[in-house]
Amino acid sequence: MKALQSCELCPRGCGVDRGAGERGFCRAGVETEVYRYGPHHGEEPPLSGTAGSGTVFFSRCTLHCLYCQNYPWSQQGDGTRYALPALTEVFRELHAGGCHNWNLVSPTPWLPQVRHVVDKLATAGIRLPVVYNTSGFEAVDTLAGVEDLADIYLTDLRYADPVSAHEGSGRSDYVDVARAALQVMWQQKGALQLDADGIATRGTICRLLILPGRAGEVVDNLTWLADTIGPGIAVSVMAQYTPAYRALTRDGWDRPVSREEYDRVAEAVAELDFDCGWMQAYEGQAPNELIGFSMEPGSGIS
Ligand code: SF4
Repeated sequence: MKALQSCELCPRGCGVDRGAGERGFCRAGVETEVYRYGPHHGEEPPLSGTAGSGTVFFSRCTLHCLYCQNYPWSQQGDGTRYALPALTEVFRELHAGGCHNWNLVSPTPWLPQVRHVVDKLATAGIRLPVVYNTSGFEAVDTLAGVEDLADIYLTDLRYADPVSAHEGSGRSDYVDVARAALQVMWQQKGALQLDADGIATRGTICRLLILPGRAGEVVDNLTWLADTIGPGIAVSVMAQYTPAYRALTRDGWDRPVSREEYDRVAEAVAELDFDCGWMQAYEGQAPNELIGFSMEPGSGIS
Protein backbone atom coordinates (compact mmCIF):
# COMPACT_ATOMS: atom_id res chain seq x y z
CA MET A 1 0.00 0.00 0.00
CA LYS A 2 3.09 2.21 0.21
CA ALA A 3 2.74 2.84 -3.53
CA LEU A 4 -0.40 4.86 -2.80
CA GLN A 5 1.53 7.41 -0.75
CA SER A 6 3.10 8.87 -3.86
CA CYS A 7 1.25 7.23 -6.70
CA GLU A 8 3.32 6.53 -9.77
CA LEU A 9 1.56 3.34 -10.76
CA CYS A 10 0.92 4.51 -14.31
CA PRO A 11 2.97 6.65 -16.71
CA ARG A 12 1.20 9.80 -15.55
CA GLY A 13 3.23 9.67 -12.34
CA CYS A 14 0.88 11.99 -10.45
CA GLY A 15 2.87 11.59 -7.23
CA VAL A 16 -0.21 12.19 -5.08
CA ASP A 17 -0.72 10.76 -1.60
CA ARG A 18 -3.95 8.84 -2.09
CA GLY A 19 -3.94 7.74 1.54
CA ALA A 20 -4.03 11.38 2.60
CA GLY A 21 -7.03 12.09 0.40
CA GLU A 22 -5.18 13.50 -2.58
CA ARG A 23 -6.39 12.43 -6.00
CA GLY A 24 -4.51 12.15 -9.27
CA PHE A 25 -5.75 12.05 -12.84
CA CYS A 26 -7.69 8.79 -12.41
CA ARG A 27 -9.35 9.98 -9.15
CA ALA A 28 -8.70 6.61 -7.47
CA GLY A 29 -8.49 6.64 -3.68
CA VAL A 30 -7.58 3.89 -1.27
CA GLU A 31 -10.70 1.77 -1.11
CA THR A 32 -11.08 -0.20 -4.32
CA GLU A 33 -14.01 0.70 -6.56
CA VAL A 34 -15.60 -1.94 -8.78
CA TYR A 35 -18.42 -1.40 -11.24
CA ARG A 36 -19.38 -5.03 -11.63
CA TYR A 37 -17.94 -8.51 -11.72
CA GLY A 38 -18.97 -11.94 -12.96
CA PRO A 39 -18.29 -14.67 -15.50
CA HIS A 40 -17.72 -13.12 -18.92
CA HIS A 41 -18.28 -15.22 -22.02
CA GLY A 42 -17.31 -12.57 -24.57
CA GLU A 43 -13.54 -12.65 -24.26
CA GLU A 44 -11.10 -14.51 -26.51
CA PRO A 45 -11.91 -18.26 -26.49
CA PRO A 46 -8.96 -19.42 -24.32
CA LEU A 47 -10.00 -16.87 -21.70
CA SER A 48 -13.76 -17.41 -21.71
CA GLY A 49 -13.56 -21.17 -22.16
CA THR A 50 -16.76 -22.89 -21.13
CA ALA A 51 -17.23 -21.47 -17.65
CA GLY A 52 -16.40 -17.85 -18.40
CA SER A 53 -13.64 -15.44 -17.57
CA GLY A 54 -13.95 -14.13 -14.01
CA THR A 55 -14.05 -10.49 -14.95
CA VAL A 56 -13.72 -7.58 -12.55
CA PHE A 57 -14.53 -4.20 -14.08
CA PHE A 58 -12.68 -1.73 -11.91
CA SER A 59 -13.86 1.84 -11.72
CA ARG A 60 -11.39 4.58 -12.78
CA CYS A 61 -8.87 4.46 -15.59
CA THR A 62 -5.50 5.98 -16.31
CA LEU A 63 -6.51 6.79 -19.89
CA HIS A 64 -9.62 8.74 -20.86
CA CYS A 65 -10.52 7.82 -24.44
CA LEU A 66 -13.18 9.91 -26.13
CA TYR A 67 -14.95 6.79 -27.47
CA CYS A 68 -14.85 4.71 -24.28
CA GLN A 69 -17.94 2.55 -23.95
CA ASN A 70 -17.14 1.98 -20.28
CA TYR A 71 -17.05 5.72 -19.53
CA PRO A 72 -19.71 5.67 -16.76
CA TRP A 73 -17.31 3.80 -14.52
CA SER A 74 -13.93 4.31 -16.20
CA GLN A 75 -14.22 8.10 -16.39
CA GLN A 76 -17.20 9.13 -14.31
CA GLY A 77 -16.54 6.90 -11.33
CA ASP A 78 -19.68 4.76 -11.16
CA GLY A 79 -19.18 1.73 -8.96
CA THR A 80 -19.17 0.40 -5.44
CA ARG A 81 -16.43 0.65 -2.87
CA TYR A 82 -14.94 -2.58 -1.62
CA ALA A 83 -12.81 -2.73 1.50
CA LEU A 84 -10.13 -5.40 1.28
CA PRO A 85 -12.19 -8.19 2.93
CA ALA A 86 -15.07 -7.52 0.54
CA LEU A 87 -12.75 -7.45 -2.47
CA THR A 88 -11.31 -10.76 -1.30
CA GLU A 89 -14.81 -12.20 -1.34
CA VAL A 90 -15.29 -11.01 -4.94
CA PHE A 91 -12.23 -12.94 -6.05
CA ARG A 92 -13.22 -15.94 -3.94
CA GLU A 93 -16.71 -15.94 -5.48
CA LEU A 94 -15.34 -15.93 -9.03
CA HIS A 95 -13.09 -18.85 -8.14
CA ALA A 96 -15.91 -20.75 -6.45
CA GLY A 97 -18.12 -20.15 -9.51
CA GLY A 98 -15.69 -22.10 -11.69
CA CYS A 99 -14.31 -19.18 -13.71
CA HIS A 100 -11.12 -19.97 -15.58
CA ASN A 101 -9.24 -16.89 -14.48
CA TRP A 102 -9.40 -13.55 -12.70
CA ASN A 103 -9.71 -11.06 -15.54
CA LEU A 104 -8.86 -7.64 -14.16
CA VAL A 105 -10.05 -4.83 -16.42
CA SER A 106 -7.98 -1.66 -15.92
CA PRO A 107 -6.37 -2.81 -12.68
CA THR A 108 -3.46 -0.37 -12.65
CA PRO A 109 -4.69 2.14 -10.03
CA TRP A 110 -5.66 -0.74 -7.75
CA LEU A 111 -2.61 -3.00 -7.97
CA PRO A 112 -1.63 -2.85 -4.28
CA GLN A 113 -5.14 -3.91 -3.30
CA VAL A 114 -5.21 -6.67 -5.93
CA ARG A 115 -1.88 -8.02 -4.72
CA HIS A 116 -3.14 -8.10 -1.15
CA VAL A 117 -6.21 -10.08 -2.18
CA VAL A 118 -4.41 -12.53 -4.47
CA ASP A 119 -1.69 -13.19 -1.87
CA LYS A 120 -4.25 -13.68 0.86
CA LEU A 121 -6.25 -16.19 -1.17
CA ALA A 122 -3.08 -17.99 -2.26
CA THR A 123 -2.30 -18.74 1.38
CA ALA A 124 -5.68 -20.50 1.49
CA GLY A 125 -4.81 -22.49 -1.63
CA ILE A 126 -7.05 -20.43 -3.88
CA ARG A 127 -5.46 -19.21 -7.09
CA LEU A 128 -6.53 -18.61 -10.68
CA PRO A 129 -4.46 -17.25 -13.57
CA VAL A 130 -4.51 -13.45 -13.36
CA VAL A 131 -5.35 -11.73 -16.64
CA TYR A 132 -3.91 -8.22 -16.65
CA ASN A 133 -6.39 -6.53 -19.01
CA THR A 134 -5.09 -3.11 -19.97
CA SER A 135 -5.23 -0.27 -22.47
CA GLY A 136 -1.48 -0.73 -22.84
CA PHE A 137 -0.73 2.60 -21.17
CA GLU A 138 1.57 1.11 -18.58
CA ALA A 139 4.78 2.05 -16.81
CA VAL A 140 7.58 -0.47 -17.27
CA ASP A 141 8.54 -0.18 -13.57
CA THR A 142 5.02 -1.13 -12.56
CA LEU A 143 5.07 -4.09 -14.92
CA ALA A 144 8.36 -5.24 -13.38
CA GLY A 145 6.61 -5.18 -10.02
CA VAL A 146 3.73 -7.39 -11.15
CA GLU A 147 5.74 -10.06 -12.93
CA ASP A 148 4.84 -12.60 -10.22
CA LEU A 149 1.22 -11.42 -10.03
CA ALA A 150 0.16 -11.34 -13.69
CA ASP A 151 -0.01 -14.59 -15.62
CA ILE A 152 -1.54 -13.38 -18.86
CA TYR A 153 -1.21 -9.94 -20.36
CA LEU A 154 -4.22 -8.89 -22.44
CA THR A 155 -3.08 -5.57 -23.77
CA ASP A 156 -4.14 -3.09 -26.41
CA LEU A 157 -2.17 -1.35 -29.12
CA ARG A 158 -4.60 1.39 -30.04
CA TYR A 159 -2.66 3.75 -32.25
CA ALA A 160 0.49 3.94 -34.32
CA ASP A 161 0.33 7.70 -34.85
CA PRO A 162 0.88 10.12 -31.96
CA VAL A 163 -1.64 12.54 -33.49
CA SER A 164 -4.40 9.90 -33.29
CA ALA A 165 -3.29 8.94 -29.79
CA HIS A 166 -3.56 12.54 -28.67
CA GLU A 167 -6.94 13.00 -30.31
CA GLY A 168 -8.45 9.72 -29.12
CA SER A 169 -6.89 9.34 -25.71
CA GLY A 170 -5.21 12.63 -24.87
CA ARG A 171 -1.69 11.17 -24.84
CA SER A 172 0.58 11.61 -27.84
CA ASP A 173 3.18 9.43 -26.07
CA TYR A 174 0.81 6.43 -26.07
CA VAL A 175 2.48 4.75 -29.06
CA ASP A 176 5.94 4.71 -27.50
CA VAL A 177 4.63 3.89 -24.03
CA ALA A 178 2.40 1.01 -25.14
CA ARG A 179 5.02 -0.51 -27.42
CA ALA A 180 7.67 -0.37 -24.69
CA ALA A 181 5.20 -1.92 -22.24
CA LEU A 182 4.32 -4.70 -24.65
CA GLN A 183 7.97 -5.62 -25.08
CA VAL A 184 8.29 -5.98 -21.30
CA MET A 185 5.12 -8.07 -21.17
CA TRP A 186 6.43 -10.33 -23.90
CA GLN A 187 9.80 -10.72 -22.16
CA GLN A 188 7.98 -11.73 -18.99
CA LYS A 189 5.30 -14.07 -20.31
CA GLY A 190 6.04 -14.89 -23.94
CA ALA A 191 3.62 -16.77 -26.16
CA LEU A 192 0.18 -17.86 -25.07
CA GLN A 193 0.16 -21.22 -23.30
CA LEU A 194 -2.94 -23.38 -23.06
CA ASP A 195 -3.80 -26.33 -20.86
CA ALA A 196 -5.19 -29.62 -22.16
CA ASP A 197 -8.68 -28.08 -22.36
CA GLY A 198 -7.52 -25.12 -24.43
CA ILE A 199 -7.69 -22.68 -21.51
CA ALA A 200 -5.00 -20.02 -21.27
CA THR A 201 -2.61 -20.37 -18.35
CA ARG A 202 0.12 -17.86 -19.26
CA GLY A 203 1.26 -15.58 -22.05
CA THR A 204 0.56 -12.45 -24.01
CA ILE A 205 -2.38 -11.41 -26.17
CA CYS A 206 -2.34 -8.13 -28.06
CA ARG A 207 -5.68 -6.56 -28.96
CA LEU A 208 -5.94 -4.19 -31.89
CA LEU A 209 -9.17 -2.25 -32.16
CA ILE A 210 -9.87 -0.93 -35.66
CA LEU A 211 -10.76 2.74 -35.27
CA PRO A 212 -12.60 4.67 -38.00
CA GLY A 213 -10.23 6.26 -40.50
CA ARG A 214 -7.29 4.53 -38.83
CA ALA A 215 -7.10 1.06 -40.37
CA GLY A 216 -3.61 1.96 -41.59
CA GLU A 217 -2.49 2.33 -37.98
CA VAL A 218 -3.66 -1.20 -37.19
CA VAL A 219 -1.67 -2.44 -40.18
CA ASP A 220 1.36 -0.49 -38.91
CA ASN A 221 0.99 -2.04 -35.47
CA LEU A 222 0.54 -5.54 -36.86
CA THR A 223 3.70 -5.06 -38.92
CA TRP A 224 5.53 -3.71 -35.87
CA LEU A 225 4.40 -6.75 -33.86
CA ALA A 226 5.55 -9.20 -36.52
CA ASP A 227 8.91 -7.44 -36.92
CA THR A 228 9.66 -6.64 -33.27
CA ILE A 229 7.99 -9.37 -31.25
CA GLY A 230 7.58 -12.03 -33.94
CA PRO A 231 4.69 -14.12 -35.26
CA GLY A 232 4.43 -16.01 -31.96
CA ILE A 233 2.41 -13.33 -30.25
CA ALA A 234 -1.34 -13.94 -30.15
CA VAL A 235 -3.23 -11.11 -31.82
CA SER A 236 -6.88 -10.25 -31.38
CA VAL A 237 -8.25 -7.88 -33.98
CA MET A 238 -11.44 -6.18 -32.92
CA ALA A 239 -13.95 -4.66 -35.30
CA GLN A 240 -16.55 -3.67 -32.75
CA TYR A 241 -15.90 0.06 -32.62
CA THR A 242 -19.15 1.86 -31.96
CA PRO A 243 -19.20 5.61 -31.40
CA ALA A 244 -19.93 6.34 -27.76
CA TYR A 245 -19.56 9.14 -25.25
CA ARG A 246 -17.64 12.14 -26.63
CA ALA A 247 -17.00 10.36 -29.96
CA LEU A 248 -20.68 10.73 -30.81
CA THR A 249 -20.10 14.40 -31.60
CA ARG A 250 -16.49 14.27 -32.78
CA ASP A 251 -15.84 14.41 -36.53
CA GLY A 252 -14.10 11.29 -37.80
CA TRP A 253 -14.88 9.29 -34.65
CA ASP A 254 -18.67 9.37 -34.98
CA ARG A 255 -19.09 6.40 -37.33
CA PRO A 256 -18.47 2.67 -37.28
CA VAL A 257 -15.59 1.12 -39.20
CA SER A 258 -16.28 0.61 -42.90
CA ARG A 259 -16.11 -2.70 -44.72
CA GLU A 260 -13.14 -1.40 -46.75
CA GLU A 261 -11.24 -0.52 -43.57
CA TYR A 262 -11.97 -3.94 -42.12
CA ASP A 263 -10.84 -5.70 -45.31
CA ARG A 264 -7.58 -3.75 -45.35
CA VAL A 265 -6.74 -5.01 -41.87
CA ALA A 266 -7.90 -8.56 -42.66
CA GLU A 267 -5.54 -8.62 -45.64
CA ALA A 268 -2.60 -7.60 -43.45
CA VAL A 269 -3.48 -10.24 -40.86
CA ALA A 270 -3.49 -12.91 -43.57
CA GLU A 271 -0.18 -11.70 -45.03
CA LEU A 272 1.66 -11.47 -41.72
CA ASP A 273 0.70 -15.01 -40.80
CA PHE A 274 0.71 -14.90 -36.99
CA ASP A 275 0.80 -18.29 -35.26
CA CYS A 276 -2.23 -17.60 -33.11
CA GLY A 277 -5.04 -15.10 -33.00
CA TRP A 278 -8.61 -14.10 -33.68
CA MET A 279 -10.42 -11.55 -35.78
CA GLN A 280 -13.94 -10.43 -35.08
CA ALA A 281 -16.39 -10.81 -37.93
CA TYR A 282 -17.45 -7.58 -39.58
CA GLU A 283 -20.91 -6.61 -38.47
CA GLY A 284 -21.03 -2.93 -39.35
CA GLN A 285 -22.66 -1.24 -36.39
CA ALA A 286 -21.85 -3.49 -33.43
CA PRO A 287 -24.32 -3.69 -30.58
CA ASN A 288 -23.60 -1.01 -28.03
CA GLU A 289 -23.37 -3.47 -25.16
CA LEU A 290 -20.53 -5.42 -26.75
CA ILE A 291 -17.72 -4.14 -24.57
CA GLY A 292 -18.15 -4.66 -20.91
CA PHE A 293 -21.86 -4.17 -20.53
CA SER A 294 -22.82 -7.69 -21.52
CA MET A 295 -21.61 -10.76 -19.73
CA GLU A 296 -23.99 -13.10 -21.49
CA PRO A 297 -22.79 -15.83 -23.84
CA GLY A 298 -22.82 -14.96 -27.50
CA SER A 299 -21.20 -11.55 -27.52
CA GLY A 300 -17.75 -12.86 -28.22
CA ILE A 301 -15.15 -13.17 -30.87
CA SER A 302 -15.53 -15.36 -33.88
S1 SF4 B 1 -2.76 5.44 -11.11
FE1 SF4 B 1 -4.00 7.33 -11.02
S2 SF4 B 1 -3.11 8.56 -9.36
FE2 SF4 B 1 -1.62 6.94 -9.87
S3 SF4 B 1 -0.21 7.90 -11.33
FE3 SF4 B 1 -1.83 6.89 -12.55
S4 SF4 B 1 -3.43 8.44 -12.90
FE4 SF4 B 1 -2.07 9.18 -11.26
